[in-house]
Amino acid sequence: MSAADQSRLDQFFADVAEESKSFLGYPCNGLFDYSPLFKFLQYPLNNVGDPFLPSNYHLNTHEFECDLLKIFQTLTQAPENQTWGYITNGGTEGNHYGLFLARELMPKAIVYYSQDAHYSIDKILRCLGMRSIMIRSLPKGAMDLDDLRETLRIHRDLPAIVCATVGTTMKGAVDDILGIQNIFQELALKRHYLHVDAALGGMVMPFLADPPPWNFEAGIDSIAISGHKMIGSPIPCGVVLAKKSYVDRIAQSVEYIGTLDTTLSGSRNAFTPLVLWYALHSIGLDRFQQMVKGCLETADYAIDQLTQLDRNAWRHPYANIVVFDRPASIITQRWQLACQGDISHLITMPHVTKEQLDNFIASLQALETLPDRPVMPLSVCETTLSDTDQNITIISSDAINLLTQVSTALAAAGLSIEDLFAVKTQGGSIVHMKVDNREKALQILNLHLDIGRCHGHSRPFSSEETAQILSQVNYHAVSDEALLIQLQDRPGSLAQVMKQCQDHNIAIRAVRLISRSQGEALVEIASDQAPQLKAIFSDRILHSNPAKLPEHQV
Ligand SMILES: *Cc1c(COP(=O)(O)O)cnc(C)c1O
Repeated sequence: MSAADQSRLDQFFADVAEESKSFLGYPCNGLFDYSPLFKFLQYPLNNVGDPFLPSNYHLNTHEFECDLLKIFQTLTQAPENQTWGYITNGGTEGNHYGLFLARELMPKAIVYYSQDAHYSIDKILRCLGMRSIMIRSLPKGAMDLDDLRETLRIHRDLPAIVCATVGTTMKGAVDDILGIQNIFQELALKRHYLHVDAALGGMVMPFLADPPPWNFEAGIDSIAISGHKMIGSPIPCGVVLAKKSYVDRIAQSVEYIGTLDTTLSGSRNAFTPLVLWYALHSIGLDRFQQMVKGCLETADYAIDQLTQLDRNAWRHPYANIVVFDRPASIITQRWQLACQGDISHLITMPHVTKEQLDNFIASLQALETLPDRPVMPLSVCETTLSDTDQNITIISSDAINLLTQVSTALAAAGLSIEDLFAVKTQGGSIVHMKVDNREKALQILNLHLDIGRCHGHSRPFSSEETAQILSQVNYHAVSDEALLIQLQDRPGSLAQVMKQCQDHNIAIRAVRLISRSQGEALVEIASDQAPQLKAIFSDRILHSNPAKLPEHQV
């Protein structure tokens, strides 16, 4: 491979590692290590055909697949030897299989599913050409059983297939499985089928002390669970289980592979059964239980933090999905949050730490101080960008406090400032800094300071010009009586200080970052109102003797 191709891969690896630090919004556990399974990747393993039957293709992991299915039978309280299943490519394939089976059994049936059902259901029903009716959801996400009852009553002459959700994607709601069965009884609907989509919930419910009814014990006919969600896998996967007597009725034999063709796809992933088997055997169900408990505790921590910011955060008692008011898109993009209408959610999967949540909360707080764009009206904006040595320099002729705006915008995007030097001169403001992700920082600044638009009418400075402008700024001339303030070294800290200064009407002449170490940052702030500044930050002031500090290298 060429050096360019190699470096492209390396860069991609670095990007993935970076993005994984802010992975709060999707229900995929990122905490795993399957490196002991690496050696299996050198063989063309393939699980084609029915996992329970011998096949002519011997390079398979059917044995592990069957072991796994046993574990899932136990977790879903299926009666022994009465369910059949296989390891799928994910929750979607499991739903597809469940509904396919139901259609083969009752071709004329209508499928009922809720407004909050996963988007895959709609698509699957179209693939299968099944008649369906969407049932209303209650505000907290569960299927509205009054609506289901009324709708079923009207269509009592046709068999009913209900696709219930155990853990809706957006709000984590569990549909009332026993309530649905009761409606079948009440209406004397003899021909019915109940499929459960338990993509995430299927690996949460088994570990709760008192889960709502959700599985075979509650009379369901089939269930789909994702493998890459709560368990975690580098390759998407899942499991589907269905009553064996149904599957036997529709199985078809295929001579070519010498086995029964009971699965949806032909060739099937043989590596993911190893992954799931390894996870369940190495972690063990006891530790899984602790892991799930930990997820719920982290969810409660997130709710506490969000409540302090008045974000209307809540969760169902059985779900690790925290629903709250939808924040601005700068936040949802940075933290990869899913949104629906005016709500957003974050999902405290095992890899989510309190520290990550603190950083997330800090970005939310920072954003509160950021007005809706544009921050600087075009008429007074002569801001321009230039860069040398990976630094970003922003020069504005505007009287607005440039550093407050810049630090706030960066904090909201979760970017940290690695080096900083900001001065207010008579002609305007200069912010010269180094950030951890320059590309993103430029994007954010363009968005919030409208620098992009200004480019059109004031030309960017060349690096020589910038260096010249900066060299004319005499830092020491503005830094007498500067104070040293200690901050937590994380996105948002500086923005908060700047906001406090603004709230107290304290004009800042200069700010520079002196040092960063062990989670602390030392910042020097010069102002004509040093006594007021001292009073506000009394608990964080280190000492104030700027003369002893090294000259800032621009
Ligand atoms: C994620 C999810 C699915 C889809 O599962 P995939 O594994 O992504 O195919 C289906 N239903 C629900 C409720 C889900 O949360």
